[in-house]
Amino acid sequence: MTETTITTPSWVQALDKYVASKPIEDVAADLGLKAEEIIMLVANENPNGMSSKVKEAVATAALNLNRYPDADAYHLQKAIAEKYGVPQDWVVIGSGSSELLGLAAETVLSEGTTAIYPQYSFSLYPMVARLCGAETIEIPSTGDFNADLDAMADAVDERTRLIFLTNPNNPTGTYLAEKDILAFLDKIPPTVMVLFDEAYVEFLEPALRCDSMEIVRLHPNVMVARTFSKAYGLAGARVGYGIAQPGLLSMLNRVRHPFNVNDLSQIAALAALQDQEFVEKTLEVNRKGIKFLSEAFDALGLPYMGLHANFITVKVGPHADDIVQYLLKKGIIVRRMKSYDLPEWIRVSVGTPEQNERFLEVLKEALAKFEETSA
Ligand SMILES: *Cc1c(COP(=O)(O)O)cnc(C)c1O
Repeated sequence: MTETTITTPSWVQALDKYVASKPIEDVAADLGLKAEEIIMLVANENPNGMSSKVKEAVATAALNLNRYPDADAYHLQKAIAEKYGVPQDWVVIGSGSSELLGLAAETVLSEGTTAIYPQYSFSLYPMVARLCGAETIEIPSTGDFNADLDAMADAVDERTRLIFLTNPNNPTGTYLAEKDILAFLDKIPPTVMVLFDEAYVEFLEPALRCDSMEIVRLHPNVMVARTFSKAYGLAGARVGYGIAQPGLLSMLNRVRHPFNVNDLSQIAALAALQDQEFVEKTLEVNRKGIKFLSEAFDALGLPYMGLHANFITVKVGPHADDIVQYLLKKGIIVRRMKSYDLPEWIRVSVGTPEQNERFLEVLKEALAKFEETSA
């Protein structure tokens, strides 16, 4: 094999491939465990599985895959529009909200333009922006790990085309108050698109939520992005949706490939949307898990960030690497925060009550073991 000599843009050469983790069966085999013994607390997935209504709908639909899916995911688009009280042409369906982040970037970015995003935010933001040849500007967070909205607004100049904002935020678990979001949006020129990523919005207490649909009505430059991957338990189906005014979406839909969401995924998401009981159960399990884990971290004297999503980012100290490895050997997978310049922190997704208890038990073992070695 030889190195490729095909010509690629400089920004493609500068990118790194996303480093995927090994298939769970392989991880389990390496550890001498069974796949079902592995406790996955690494990707903020739904520990309750998925709605049984989705299973039924998908099983039926799986027998008929000879036709192309609807190019716009018509039925799902309609159901989402009805649920949120917006016209159907204000809704776009994506292959995960990740695709929508990428489409937003492709719609507005090119060489010579810039995208702004806060420190401690989703790693995909700079990735999709750089893929379009744009420059990225990361704005340092406030002391409490939240986005510094004033600094972000101040950073906007004539080259800015896209701003990413997340609420509640991953990996910090923090949220933004509605009045601060509104004041921020008032300062952003209408020529700059704002991607308002609400992947975890279902987990935010209703009293703390902002009226996102009203924000979209007020601001023709804002697109709200949401997902079926977290509260709805469909990470494997890859379905997300965007809500924005038709002017913005008419541009974004030129970039989007038709048939971007397959038939099974459209049907799975539609069934999931109709099972709010499953979502309520998920939120209840999550609420209890957040309480259990945060109280345990308090008792251990471990500082943590916000509690407004389905994970907690916690400071386990200078032995974070060893602790993550120790957890892994016991079959528990959590996320390191080293790539965020937070080498002493880990992010743990909330699991089932049994998984949370097991995680805590092994974490305590690890803390005791590595504290001893450093003493
Ligand atoms: C998980 C997540 C998403 C959703 O990703 P999908 O592509 O919909 O699975 C979007 N934004 C953030 C910040 C996330 O953490």
